[in-house]
Amino acid sequence: MRRLDVAIAGAGPAGLAMALALHREGHRVVLYEQFDEPRPLGSGLILQPTGLVVLDWLGLGDKLRSLGARIDRLFGTSSESGRTVLDVRYAALGEARGYAVHRAALFGTLFDAVLQAGIAIEKKSRINGLEGGVLTLSQGRASPAFDLVIDASGASSPLASSTHGGRTTRPLRYGAVWSSLPWPEAGFDPHALEQKYNRASVMIGVLPIGRVTLQGPQQAAFFWSLKHDTYAQWRAAGIEAWKHEVLRHWPQVAPLLEHVGSPDDLVLARYQHHTLAIPYGDRLICIGDAAHATSPQLGQGANMALLDVRALSEALRLNDDLAAAAAAYARARKWHVQVYQALSAAFTPFYQSDSILLPFLRDSLVAPLSKVPPVQRLLAHTVAGTVVRPSRAPLSVRSGA
Ligand SMILES: Cc1cc2nc3c(=O)[nH]c(=O)nc-3n(C[C@H](O)[C@H](O)[C@H](O)COP(=O)(O)OP(=O)(O)OC[C@H]3O[C@@H](n4cnc5c(N)ncnc54)[C@H](O)[C@@H]3O)c2cc1C
Repeated sequence: MRRLDVAIAGAGPAGLAMALALHREGHRVVLYEQFDEPRPLGSGLILQPTGLVVLDWLGLGDKLRSLGARIDRLFGTSSESGRTVLDVRYAALGEARGYAVHRAALFGTLFDAVLQAGIAIEKKSRINGLEGGVLTLSQGRASPAFDLVIDASGASSPLASSTHGGRTTRPLRYGAVWSSLPWPEAGFDPHALEQKYNRASVMIGVLPIGRVTLQGPQQAAFFWSLKHDTYAQWRAAGIEAWKHEVLRHWPQVAPLLEHVGSPDDLVLARYQHHTLAIPYGDRLICIGDAAHATSPQLGQGANMALLDVRALSEALRLNDDLAAAAAAYARARKWHVQVYQALSAAFTPFYQSDSILLPFLRDSLVAPLSKVPPVQRLLAHTVAGTVVRPSRAPLSVRSGA
């Protein structure tokens, strides 16, 4: 591919990683970000072996492993019966592990690398649309014309509906409130995501997420499942009423809740589900949540975004025509994206819904089945992002921490 002028919409994990990959290939890259200062949103996430391979390829994997918390196990129990409902161990796959990181650690690592590479960032530039390679920006401004615009502006992308297949979004009723809190000294496994459920209407989670800087304190991501149309009511009821409810299900989280003083200490995350049938249009290619968003039930979103970056970078390197590169990228990722979007849509109501039947099936059938070794392996592959090959491009999962 000749040297391209590329605009990247959005400085989230997908946009920052894409900027680094294309800059390395010699393309001229400009990042457009709506915020005054690019910044991470939310609390923590798990980097799976798939995403870590891409971060290793960018030279950033070891830094993130040193900041993050190694995750060996995902473990959940019922608050009613105390029974184990979920127990997935990465050890079923050999040496591969997940690493949970604070979003600020992932963002900071990618952002520092972008600054060091001297990649241009246009801040305070909210994108409203795209016409012939020119971005329409806030306050009536327009960008110069680009050969290619890569849309990494997330689940509410203003550009994704301009792809050849258009976009249909389904908002999910359940979201969650999240917070990053000091890691409690005792009572929790520092290498596990621990969750507590009551049917599918209550889900509470504690995830060790390591540190934002090497000298910083260890932190935990804490989350509580919440229907977003009840958020105002939840706030109005007051923080003490909510704490009382949480502790009724999981008394051991009391030391974490001591650090929550008001509803403002928790951030509401809304979830939606969409998968673009054709993730490209005229001079436009979508990656990350702009191309495929879902609930974080399987914890794949940032990892899928990183896999998109690798596949698109390869497609642009191996094709000398933009349309061919866009089609090659879409083909390379299609199968993995479709399988994970379908799995996320299928799994989510078992953990976040008003259903009584689905959590009953989860507890009485799936939980005992998941103790059978081949099912354990399948569940571990599902969580690791490797239930099918991540890409037709020559990607392989590095095993070992
Ligand atoms: C609560 C929660 C927990 C999660 N847990 C996990 C997990 O454990 N593992 C995992 O892999 N994933 C997880 N995810 C999903 C993951 O966060 C996303 O998949 C990932 O952030 C997608 O990255 P992105 O760069 O595509 O989009 P985003 O992170 O949404 O970044 C988009 C960027 O574009 C900017 N932008 C948006 N609109 C515009 C505009 N109009 N103009 C200019 N800039 C714009 C935004 O400001 C932002 O900087 C979780 C998500 C949530 C909400």
